[in-house]
Amino acid sequence: MKSITIVGGGLAGLTLGLLLRRGKVPVKLYEAGGYPRHRVCGEYLSGRALSVIDSLGMRNQLRNSGAVESQDVVVARGASALSRHSLPQPALCISRYSFDRLIAEELSRAGGIIETRTRAPAEAAEGIVLATGRQPFTKKAGWRWFGLKAHALGVKLDAGLEMHLSPQGYVGLCRVENQLVNVCGLFRSRNPVPDLATSWKKWLCGEPTSLLHQKLRQAEWDESSFTSIAALSLTPRKSADQIGLRVGDALTMIPPVTGNGMSMAIEGASLAAGPILEWSLGQMDWAMATEKVGRLLDQTFASRLRHACWLQHAMLEPFTQSVAWTLCQMFPGFPSLLFRLTR
Ligand SMILES: Cc1cc2nc3c(=O)[nH]c(=O)nc-3n(C[C@H](O)[C@H](O)[C@H](O)COP(=O)(O)OP(=O)(O)OC[C@H]3O[C@@H](n4cnc5c(N)ncnc54)[C@H](O)[C@@H]3O)c2cc1C
Repeated sequence: MKSITIVGGGLAGLTLGLLLRRGKVPVKLYEAGGYPRHRVCGEYLSGRALSVIDSLGMRNQLRNSGAVESQDVVVARGASALSRHSLPQPALCISRYSFDRLIAEELSRAGGIIETRTRAPAEAAEGIVLATGRQPFTKKAGWRWFGLKAHALGVKLDAGLEMHLSPQGYVGLCRVENQLVNVCGLFRSRNPVPDLATSWKKWLCGEPTSLLHQKLRQAEWDESSFTSIAALSLTPRKSADQIGLRVGDALTMIPPVTGNGMSMAIEGASLAAGPILEWSLGQMDWAMATEKVGRLLDQTFASRLRHACWLQHAMLEPFTQSVAWTLCQMFPGFPSLLFRLTR
């Protein structure tokens, strides 16, 4: 069997490696960082990825590591909140610190070779999968998006997921393992924000009059879990317009407000595994495998990416945010509909 090289050991690369090892494909994965490590992420895993996790037999491992099942959501804006709402499917909430490490360990056990702290060339070639995460994007003018996340103790939640909207963006709260609450926000600014290392709590806690601020007043922050990212591009990309076999954010990023990026990374890996296995067995050439994976991923994700762009706009532009808020007040099923359309 021909061996595969995966560049990037986030959820997309690790899941792909594990699925390929289950088919006995020799796998070598390069990861620029190490495990465990904190990442900017809402840590809310929902949607079709959960069935991939089940097919890998990993749900119990996640549960045993403290993953928390989440069934409902409260959406708040400033000082008001909508009533608690059940979502169509339960989600699993687990820190990326634990999640990525668990899958990396499983991949090693399955015989995959992982080279951590090794940056490999992210170049398209036969037998190489690009799972390198989001493509950095520098903007000269207009809004710049940045993400912040940290864990805290001593925060009481009113639902499995709380989404707090503000004119600057949103903050999501969910309980993960060890009674910790993950506090993760996406914000926008016209100008670079140079002092995030000192001002992150101010951004995450929101306006002093908001419910979010009240909720996080007693928070005991785990300072070592703080991470940030900037230069985010939220414009969807198609595989057909890019070079190489790509999975996860290396292909396209879905706006984080959907809470579906991890699912797309895992689902994309699952869709890519079949054609790569056929290539490894000599049943298909690399160009055909790349084309087949690209087509599958583009088709599978087209509709949710379209709805996600709309949702991102509706939730994070102040005017459309008020319209969406009114719709949610008038039609209590509206958040569930949005949830379904982006999965
Ligand atoms: C603010 C925010 C909140 C989010 N909240 C959620 C949420 O609640 N739920 C959800 O499902 N999704 C969420 N997401 C999205 C989710 O985090 C990503 O979609 C997911 O992590 C993508 O996984 P990935 O494996 O493609 O990329 P990453 O997890 O970014 O992994 C890519 C890896 O590649 C490595 N790498 C890059 N280049 C190289 C190289 N040349 N050589 C070796 N290694 C390399 C990097 O070190 C990195 O570890 C959120 C994202 C943001 C920004």
